[in-house]
Amino acid sequence: MSLIVQKYGGTSVADAERIRSVAARIAARHRAGDQLLVVVSAMGDTTDRLQALAREISEHPEARELDLLFSTGETVSMTLLAMALHALDVEAVSLSGAQAGLRTDTTHGQARIVKVAPERIQQELERGRVVIVAGFQGITEELDVTTLGRGGSDTTAVALAAGLGAGRCEIYTDVDGVYTADPRVEPKARKLRDISYEEMLELAAVGAKVLHPRAVELGAVYGIEIVVASSFTEEPGTLIHGGVTMEQFNKVRGIAHDLDVAKVTVRAVPDQPGIAATIFEALAEHQISVDTIVQNASVERLTDVTFTVAGDDLRKATPIVEQVAKKIRAAEVVAEEGLGKISIVGTGMQTAPGYAARMFRALSDAGINIDMISTGEIRITCIVHRSDVEDALRTLHKTFELEKAAAGEL
Ligand code: ASP
Ligand code: MG
Repeated sequence: MSLIVQKYGGTSVADAERIRSVAARIAARHRAGDQLLVVVSAMGDTTDRLQALAREISEHPEARELDLLFSTGETVSMTLLAMALHALDVEAVSLSGAQAGLRTDTTHGQARIVKVAPERIQQELERGRVVIVAGFQGITEELDVTTLGRGGSDTTAVALAAGLGAGRCEIYTDVDGVYTADPRVEPKARKLRDISYEEMLELAAVGAKVLHPRAVELGAVYGIEIVVASSFTEEPGTLIHGGVTMEQFNKVRGIAHDLDVAKVTVRAVPDQPGIAATIFEALAEHQISVDTIVQNASVERLTDVTFTVAGDDLRKATPIVEQVAKKIRAAEVVAEEGLGKISIVGTGMQTAPGYAARMFRALSDAGINIDMISTGEIRITCIVHRSDVEDALRTLHKTFELEKAAAGEL
């Protein structure tokens, strides 16, 4: 008998009919003799609606109250799923994050899991019950309910798989796997049979939204294989694991894009120690994540510092940077909206030269201007005008022949 850990996302449990259909899938696996631990998200857009409701009441709702409010979303879906299983004569029990032993730190809204205490889950599994756990939530030492950040149910599932010694975690969502690019933009995008943790992390960091990045991180640390598949079909999904064939014929594995990038330039900054630290400390203090950062070589002891932020954060970032600019005697702050980002990702790129050149040539042949460039070991990113992003994606998908399966792949 093996332990199967599954997670069903919001669209997979969006209404009573979907919940019944998920229950039927679980029941079939249970009858085949497996132990099942199932993590669920809130139904459909419940979390968004709860957030909107809180904002109607208060402009700055307290993070503690928000977490307790959000946790009701997963409470609804887990109890309904348990009832749906009972209706199929399957023994099942639902557990909140606290009951399931998911202990976190006290960072409300972005809590980190510090420990999984799996005793209750183990007892229930040993009794032969299907155990359903509310995703996205945990509990602090002081018994306050926390949440792990939007999309955090994936992380709950992988953490429980690690805590219970399961080697694998199945994540069911509304897409049937990880694609070479977003199929809504590039219809020729191909579903990957497998992908490495590193590649998946890079793709997730630059805009692919299939999985919560922390779930992939945990998978890599604990060696948990993650399968992403659809709960709507029986199609095999994508396996995320450590041992992908090294000698890939096709070294770009995927392309991610992001349509919501803004850029801030601090002009004519004195070139002296501590300037970059001052700018970015101020942003960090206000919880603004900065992405690509470029500092030019200085001319006459003056330099420009440019960085990108999520479009949503620009309004918050600009006044903060303007204040710092005054303090450090920079000439001016220029903000620009309407940008986007396109990234190619692949483990093989670190050993094979020429990928950057091919990427830039392809974009130039398509008449697309590159605004900024940043690279990582297995990633090359270009910031381009938002209206060029989708074109760029299709161009690069073709250039790197991503519609064709790599050697050793199906
Ligand atoms: N319900 C939460 C959210 O929508 C957690 C999740 O879906 O994973 O962000
Ligand atoms: Mg959700």
